[in-house]
Amino acid sequence: MTKKMRVPWLLLAIALFLSSAVPTVTHAQKSAPPAAGDDPDFAEFVKKATTKPEFLSPLVDHLPKKAGVPTPKDVLGYHIGTEKKLTYVADQQRYFRALEKSLPGRVKTEVIGKTEEGRDVMVVYVTSEANLKSLAAQRENTRRLADPRGLTEAQAQQLVATTKPHYHISAGLHSAETNPPEAVIELAYRLAVSDEPYIKQIRDNVIVSITGATDIDGRDRYVDWYYAYKIDEPYEGGENYGDVPYWGKYVFHDNNRDINYGVDSLRLHLNWYLSWLPPIWHDLHEAQTLLYTFSGQPPQNANLDPILYTELPFFATYEVNKLTSYGMPGVWHFGFVDMWSPGYLGFAAANHNGMLRMYEIFNQGGANTKKANLSGAQTRREWFRPNPAPAGAIDWSIRNSINYAETGVLTALELTSKFPQMVVENYYKKSANAVKRGADQPPHAFVIPAGQRDQTQVDRVVNLLRRQAIEVHRATAEIKVKEGTFPSGSYVVKMNQPYGPLAKTLIEKQNYPDPALTTYDDSAWSMGMASNIEIKTIEDKTILGAAATLLSADITTAGSVSGTGPITIVKHNGALSLITLRHRLKDVAMKGAKASFKIGDTEYPAGSLIIESAADRVKKEVEALGLVATEVASAPSVETVNVDLPRIAMYTTWSSTEKPGWVRLAFDRWEIPYDLIHKDHVKAGANLRGKYDVIVMPHQGQNGKSIVFEQPKLSKPLPYKKSDKFKSLGLYAETDDVRGGMGLAGAAEFQKFVEEGGVLVTMGVASYFPAEFGIARGVDAQSPAPGFYAPGPYVNSEILLPEHPTMFGYSQKTLAVRYAGGPLLQAGPPAGVEQFAGTSPERPQVVARFTGGDGGVLSGLMRNPDQIRNRPMVVDAPSGKGRVILFANNPIYRWQTFGEHAMIFNSILFWNDMPAAAPAAKPATSSGR
Ligand SMILES: [Zn+2]
Repeated sequence: MTKKMRVPWLLLAIALFLSSAVPTVTHAQKSAPPAAGDDPDFAEFVKKATTKPEFLSPLVDHLPKKAGVPTPKDVLGYHIGTEKKLTYVADQQRYFRALEKSLPGRVKTEVIGKTEEGRDVMVVYVTSEANLKSLAAQRENTRRLADPRGLTEAQAQQLVATTKPHYHISAGLHSAETNPPEAVIELAYRLAVSDEPYIKQIRDNVIVSITGATDIDGRDRYVDWYYAYKIDEPYEGGENYGDVPYWGKYVFHDNNRDINYGVDSLRLHLNWYLSWLPPIWHDLHEAQTLLYTFSGQPPQNANLDPILYTELPFFATYEVNKLTSYGMPGVWHFGFVDMWSPGYLGFAAANHNGMLRMYEIFNQGGANTKKANLSGAQTRREWFRPNPAPAGAIDWSIRNSINYAETGVLTALELTSKFPQMVVENYYKKSANAVKRGADQPPHAFVIPAGQRDQTQVDRVVNLLRRQAIEVHRATAEIKVKEGTFPSGSYVVKMNQPYGPLAKTLIEKQNYPDPALTTYDDSAWSMGMASNIEIKTIEDKTILGAAATLLSADITTAGSVSGTGPITIVKHNGALSLITLRHRLKDVAMKGAKASFKIGDTEYPAGSLIIESAADRVKKEVEALGLVATEVASAPSVETVNVDLPRIAMYTTWSSTEKPGWVRLAFDRWEIPYDLIHKDHVKAGANLRGKYDVIVMPHQGQNGKSIVFEQPKLSKPLPYKKSDKFKSLGLYAETDDVRGGMGLAGAAEFQKFVEEGGVLVTMGVASYFPAEFGIARGVDAQSPAPGFYAPGPYVNSEILLPEHPTMFGYSQKTLAVRYAGGPLLQAGPPAGVEQFAGTSPERPQVVARFTGGDGGVLSGLMRNPDQIRNRPMVVDAPSGKGRVILFANNPIYRWQTFGEHAMIFNSILFWNDMPAAAPAAKPATSSGR
């Protein structure tokens, strides 16, 4: 068929839609008696387990049976959605394997890796016998269309016509959202066995795959917690036994915010996605009333293809239409989640020219039927919510949620099966458009120039881009373009590639389109700023022809040791691996330079390490860690300090373990040993100073009070401990009762710790604590005034004391940092004691501050940025023999703000090398405002 003659697939699809070749399920079926071959026991069960007839649909009010194939109940012992039954992942996987065994022509399981705690991560494929047989060829077709470079239009259309759309469904990313991992068990069964025409059509026309539980460790831990406590929560509400303190090993809800896929088990899902590249990834969550289907409200990311923004409402509207026609109330789209941040796990699909679809389904955490009182916007009729949820009290069961989840997904699959080629062709077009846009429109590339201060940060950024299948080239000759000259060895990210738009999204400054709009997560993530490296935007099209080779593997630039001699000098260039070196060589004495010095022509900044050894192992570690060193005959004449390692604790609340989790991840990756301590460890008489030199308190809670008092003791004691029955509990920390917090006695122990010579390092919101409780004397913390809104923009900061050890390795005067919502600090003598200001040894020093104002917002959105003008960012507050170092920024934010991590690592390396407060020239009342 010539191009001119070709009937566009969309028209064909619409024609097919109108003709309704396969009839959709009608409402009349809803009250029909079970058909022959259906499970009568299930029909009776589902009627009882659903709290009102309108919460059920004709798609799931029956369960087909097929000889030789076990239903979920046959394997698990209960129907899916049975009151007070949640399924452990091993049992879910046992069922999927049983299904595969009985129907190997239609069902295939695949273990794609292991979690942090050693559990199998599984994907299940369900499709027709013919599709399953040709699965490998189908996957190759999809991959070919995902990268259409080199395909002629005729070849592409031939592929479109013969490729079955792959529709991926994932459940259980968020462990407290309990229904989806149950729903997909029954869904897999229905898809595999049902002879209903619409399901046969799904099997024939669509390749369905399912991740039954995405955070598997978290799912099992939550199910343990449910059976230990939540199962006893009363129907009327009131007593609430909360959430289990940990989901996965490191992160909780933020597993849907890991923009750089730093958590290994999350990266497994990305890698799986990139190996199959399904055009659709549908992620199932719980939150909204009663079912919200994502349709991509503003702000929208303009780097994503316009086609995506028509596909999303196309699907969502169809689902709202069908479920509404089944009489199910509360199904809506629009509103709730926007299309700005690319950091959600399933957004991997949208980022790679596919489509992220998402549901939020009503449930109440667990599997108990509970009373819910519905009111407000969710019960109001709107154009996007034509049949709202009923206002007032309703009973809600987990089976209700499962009915909604399955009915929605089956409807979406039915739509896909009606327009299979439209889905595939859109996918191809989005991919082709991406390549073309990068060739036709500036910017045409980003260049990461060679020769930057710290190559380890450059390596990491290149590898993070490659992790997302973005092609990165290395220049083999000097590059001369309008924007400048870049040396050979510079990295080039060309935009004329399928994932050029993703590279642009990740690297560019985020120009937030409308300051009046709010956003669901961060407004900025610009990679160069986050890693404190230079990345140049190139509009000169000749860059596309620059001599460069495509990287075929991750890069790890080896460190270098020049010169010879018995002493090794390691440059403090800000490399995060400097602290790893110190710990790996903990038995080797090291000194740190208090000021910069020169060896030959080379400048060594303050903080550089002077090691009285040139042993092979020193050299080996320097090289392995990407550091820059030289061997010399004699130590340079510069004032030094001993770089002795402190005993480190990290403090976590029980109510907010996630933000400390990201810091735990960073400490583990850079091999920094620490004890994780909590309220039980800071009881009166704890003698913290006898045990630790540095206590790091990561960003957590809402303010100082929430860190001290945590959750109130309203219910029975809630132990988080290992037991034979509940093996997932008690991991990462243990306690007899998660409630209560450290209380004032605990705060007093922190004060004692500092006064006796300890160093307390507080990050982000945790910096309210030492200010509010008088542990950092002379530092006050305020909250922003109304009208301030800052969803994680990058802002400018100014380093006021470059010689202060926390700032070692930062060679610049100003630094981009992520605004973390920490306190607005004020540092100076406390009110009423100005007369002592000049003599107090406890005068806090402002090491760095935010510059503020509109000009200080470098990427993303901040409303009323004048509120942070000249507010302290880093404060060193001596107290007694010790000190508090307060960070109003959050230097270790997710797997992301690598450019700020060094401030924390410096605070550890140089914990007892901080300068005494300089005498005040005049009793300044505030160095902050
Ligand atoms: Zn969720």
